[in-house]
Amino acid sequence: MYIKRLSLRSFRNYEAAELEFSPLTNVIYGNNAQGKTNILEAVYLFSQGRSHRAKSDKELIRFGDEFARLSLDFRDSERSYGCNMQIAKNGRKSVSINHVHIMKLSKLMNYLNVVMFSPEDLELVKGSPSARRRFIDSSVSQLYPAYLAALMDYNKALAQKNSLLKALRAKGSRTDIMLSVWNEQLAQNGSKIMEARAGFTKFINGAAAAVQNEISGETLRIGYRPGVRTEDRSPEAIFEYLSSKESREIDMAASMYGVQRDDLDISVNGCEARLFGSQGQQRTAALSMKIAQAEYIKSIKGEYPVLLLDDIMSELDINRRMYLSERIRDKQVLITSTDTDLIDKDTDTRLFRIENGTVIN
Ligand code: ATP
Ligand code: MG
Repeated sequence: MYIKRLSLRSFRNYEAAELEFSPLTNVIYGNNAQGKTNILEAVYLFSQGRSHRAKSDKELIRFGDEFARLSLDFRDSERSYGCNMQIAKNGRKSVSINHVHIMKLSKLMNYLNVVMFSPEDLELVKGSPSARRRFIDSSVSQLYPAYLAALMDYNKALAQKNSLLKALRAKGSRTDIMLSVWNEQLAQNGSKIMEARAGFTKFINGAAAAVQNEISGETLRIGYRPGVRTEDRSPEAIFEYLSSKESREIDMAASMYGVQRDDLDISVNGCEARLFGSQGQQRTAALSMKIAQAEYIKSIKGEYPVLLLDDIMSELDINRRMYLSERIRDKQVLITSTDTDLIDKDTDTRLFRIENGTVIN
């Protein structure tokens, strides 16, 4: 799939801008703080329904303005889509695709798929487990709405269970019938989530290992480490496991087991990458995982997602840059950089110079 045109009104530091993209490489360049990442953020918004960096949607509206208005035209192998979005000061977003109003923003990801590469991807390897869970969740929910639904139901039940555990501690009580009701719901949804996460990890392990090996000859291994230690991922087995941990969870007044504690084990040449990997090995592992994420979307959708590369070329050495350039050559990619020399260009490459919220072609 590829995006054809983006139009911005009162978005971030843009009063008004129009960009017509090449279906292949697009380079968005300029000095720091001019509005390069803002362009990628706008595209990301049309896929994920939320910004990759703003805490509140209000931040997206140009200072002093009431509304931000964005539109994006894109197409996949079957058809074209025109998508409009309006963001109001109270945080309300209204979105339509081909003039049909979209009630749930999470529906957007069924239409437009993107993968964002940024220097913060290093967190996938070095950061906390929640960064790795977000990586899994954003990949899988782009393709399986039922996964997102299970995740949301799971989180609702988890919040209820956590407040019950706290209430039990406050009362000094050690039993409540509702505990097994919540565990039952956690087991039902947890089972679906674990199955999907295990399947995703298996794919990513194969694809990312191939990339890492090609770049550096190293052996990358990514394994799924579930927060419920059962071989059997059926709802019954998970329920039984959670039930056996009730007493400990009551002691701790917190849910200690479940998919909210899932993680990925990432190793390079047999050593845990988080603790023993060099910066370069960690960066390569993160890059391999993101390329694998794009391959995963392709394997299910039959089409590559749009690749958004935010300022990552300057972080990579020449070998990794060359490898990445080769991998993205036949796909649509939007690359931001302060230095166009770092990017491979050919006759199809389109360049956009950004200066203080203005696109200068
Ligand atoms: P760098 O190379 O440093 O990453 P960049 O070109 O990617 O820079 P962006 O993050 O896209 O920069 O844009 C940052 C600019 O946008 C800053 O000057 C910031 O003040 C401005 N900006 C951010 N939000 C708003 C807003 N709501 N209204 C007006 N300007 C904004
Ligand atoms: Mg930037």
